[in-house]
Amino acid sequence: MARKFHVIVIGAGSTGSATAHDLALRGFDVTVIERGEIASGTTGRNHCLLHSGGRYAVTDHEGAVECIDENLTLRHIMRDGLELNDGLFVAVDESDLEFKNTFLEGCAQCGIPARDIPVKRALEIEPYLNPKILAAVQVPDGVFDPYRFCLSFLATAKKNGATVLPYHEVTALRMNGNAVDGVRVKDHRTGREREIGADLVVNATGPWAGKIAAMANVDVPVIPTAGVMVSINKRLNQMVVNRLNKPHDGDIVVPQRLTSIIGTTSWKVDDMDAIPIPKEHVDKMIAFGEKMIPALRHNAIRGVMAVARPLIGKKSADEREVSRTFAGFDHAHDGVENFVTISGGKTTTARGMAEKISDIVCAKLGVVAPCRTREVVLESYRNYYNN
Ligand SMILES: Cc1cc2nc3c(=O)[nH]c(=O)nc-3n(C[C@H](O)[C@H](O)[C@H](O)COP(=O)(O)OP(=O)(O)OC[C@H]3O[C@@H](n4cnc5c(N)ncnc54)[C@H](O)[C@@H]3O)c2cc1C
Repeated sequence: MARKFHVIVIGAGSTGSATAHDLALRGFDVTVIERGEIASGTTGRNHCLLHSGGRYAVTDHEGAVECIDENLTLRHIMRDGLELNDGLFVAVDESDLEFKNTFLEGCAQCGIPARDIPVKRALEIEPYLNPKILAAVQVPDGVFDPYRFCLSFLATAKKNGATVLPYHEVTALRMNGNAVDGVRVKDHRTGREREIGADLVVNATGPWAGKIAAMANVDVPVIPTAGVMVSINKRLNQMVVNRLNKPHDGDIVVPQRLTSIIGTTSWKVDDMDAIPIPKEHVDKMIAFGEKMIPALRHNAIRGVMAVARPLIGKKSADEREVSRTFAGFDHAHDGVENFVTISGGKTTTARGMAEKISDIVCAKLGVVAPCRTREVVLESYRNYYNN
């Protein structure tokens, strides 16, 4: 690159962190601006399932293919931060059992390795499973630590020259005619405000993407959709346990360190910073979760949490029907130059999202630099503090 372009990435969740890594690797001078701690948005409080894509294999082919592709790539590039423990889809009633062949066909079509295993074997691996389950299918699910996930990408970005500014909130986009040429930020630790110039600004603020885009008077079709999760104070499963049916409330139990987390529900919200946790959602998690693992009801609740997904689609859409895919937006199409947004997707697909938006950035700035993030092994998350 003849001149090093300066690109600001707003947001240090999984999307912004992976984007900073991709852009730094392609030779850009990158500054990441995050209003809170790293991963303090949706990424830091999600279910932490490294999706095999099995969950979407029947209902969302595109989302499922993205998940298995990125799942396999992350196994190669992320040395720590992942627990590669696989997952089981279990049938607890006749309707689940009828779904099994459709599920296996869906997985085959999406390239997801899925193995029908004997119930006896499933119960040996997971003794807390409902002993009455009728079938079990094993898939390459896993678990990620969301904080370490982001730190691995950011540690590598820093090694390649990126600057990370946590506790800095973007309060305005700086405009020069119809182009964005920087941001105004408030440093929450000192209270000071200042401007930072840039050749291009990437909006990677997940469910907040609409708020940032509105600063340039543009609209992005992000539907913030909340979900409740209930953490149980004992690790009752070693693998991820999913209900063998179409995606529904309370149909996944993810083991996370010494807990088992049941999730989730799904409803649209307007304010991502004040999501209520309805008691009936918590009750529902226990009621649905115990069908797969009865002991979930008999152990104490350690905590409950709710965050909002950034789904891409029309505000009027039914949120369970909206694809879990992602989209990159070049706001030149809205009449605003040097400003792009990446949103939707999942933490599992963060690297792919970063590739998509970095390709758009390169095209806009006339830079020829192919993506290398599929091959480059990431730094340990520990090096975030050393680089
Ligand atoms: C209930 C639930 C469960 C989920 N479970 C899973 C799962 O098991 N596996 C999976 O792969 N995905 C899961 N997801 C999806 C996943 O959590 C999201 O897709 C992903 O975290 C989005 O990451 P992001 O970086 O785009 O957004 P975020 O993580 O929200 O990051 C955006 C960042 O922007 C920052 N920001 C906002 N405004 C400003 C500003 N003005 N200035 C500076 N910074 C700002 C925020 O603080 C935040 O840190 C789940 C989602 C939900 C809701």
